[in-house]
Amino acid sequence: MANPILEFTPPPRLLLGPGPSMVHSRVLRAMATPLLGHLDPTFLQLMDDVQQLLRNVFRTANRFTIAVSGTGSAGMEAALVNLIEPGDPVVVGVNGLFGARMAAIVERCGGKLFRVEAPWGKIIEPDNILKTLSQSGPMKIVALVHAETSTGVSQPLEEIGTLCRDHGCLLVVDTVTSLGGLPVEVDGWGIDACYSATQKCLSCPPGLAPLTLSERALTVIRNRKTPCQSWYLDLSLLADYWTEGKRAYHHTAPISMLYALREALRLVEEEGLAARFARHRLNSAALMAGLTALGLSPLARNGPRLPSLNCVTLPAHVQDAPVRASLLQEFGIEIGGGLGALQGKVWRIGLMGESSTRSNVLTLLSSLEKIFLRRGWIARAGIALEAASQLYLSQSQGTHTEAPAPTHA
Ligand SMILES: *Cc1c(COP(=O)(O)O)cnc(C)c1O
Repeated sequence: MANPILEFTPPPRLLLGPGPSMVHSRVLRAMATPLLGHLDPTFLQLMDDVQQLLRNVFRTANRFTIAVSGTGSAGMEAALVNLIEPGDPVVVGVNGLFGARMAAIVERCGGKLFRVEAPWGKIIEPDNILKTLSQSGPMKIVALVHAETSTGVSQPLEEIGTLCRDHGCLLVVDTVTSLGGLPVEVDGWGIDACYSATQKCLSCPPGLAPLTLSERALTVIRNRKTPCQSWYLDLSLLADYWTEGKRAYHHTAPISMLYALREALRLVEEEGLAARFARHRLNSAALMAGLTALGLSPLARNGPRLPSLNCVTLPAHVQDAPVRASLLQEFGIEIGGGLGALQGKVWRIGLMGESSTRSNVLTLLSSLEKIFLRRGWIARAGIALEAASQLYLSQSQGTHTEAPAPTHA
């Protein structure tokens, strides 16, 4: 007889990769509470709560604000397959893996793809988008990744919305690695379709994709000539389940995931967006100070960087795989390696949501120091910790005069 399969007990892990991030015990507890039916009036109230809390993080008044069943890629696919019909011209900014994924979906739904490219590690220049809009005839959509998780680049969006209005096209934005970790202003920036995922800066397990649509986007969906290619992600059908007062069955909602998301969003609200963004910025700056002391440098050297995803280039003598293996096996810490052409050349360190704490930054740096020292890559221990501590100290001195302290640790 084969050995019985025992109850699964995961080893303790500090999740500092590109997602999933650490999950607060209140979120785990919410997931373990008893199920309700997905049409139970109490559950419908919970859906209303989730929608309102999502509008608050997206900074939008959009009535159509939901959580798509599926991970971030389902949110991406839902936004694109509902807005694009065969032959529609679509601009996609490609400067990393997730821009490339958007482009692949556009082609699969028969869209006419216009790529605006930039090297990995650089932003998409707004001027290049403008050039394409002015030279290539009417466009239906411009699609961009706000937080490119493959490179750590933060895409400036403030001017793009106006550009899109001027040229009569919709703006679609991927905020998977930014929502809840750095400012996202759906209404303020004129974004028409914006999707995210639960397992990055919202610190909830993977399984839902928050999505919000403007009235302009809803009108485009209502006026489609062909039915959406996906039945499961057809937003005109999903609208009947997510519209207050209607709540008609489409597919069974992932009940426990919605419990979790509600609690994760309550935590975001308790901390406050401004305090949360400041925490992400501070911990990222301290981590970068420590990594720089170890000889690593940010991939996005001269441009805007993400506080949620810290992508650093490895010097030639630093080996990727053995260090990440030691971190995981000896220290229980997960960080991410490079994707595509960056494989073996960079590390991607996530400080997202619950993962973004001072103690996590110091724990990671001290573990890296031990590994680097053992391999003879640094002369003494303490250099990274000292650099990070210095940064924390200078920031706390600089913020004495600021508004009241946040209530959340
Ligand atoms: C993680 C990620 C996705 C995909 O999300 P999944 O949850 O893995 O499906 C899409 N876009 C960006 C920018 C991401 O970081």
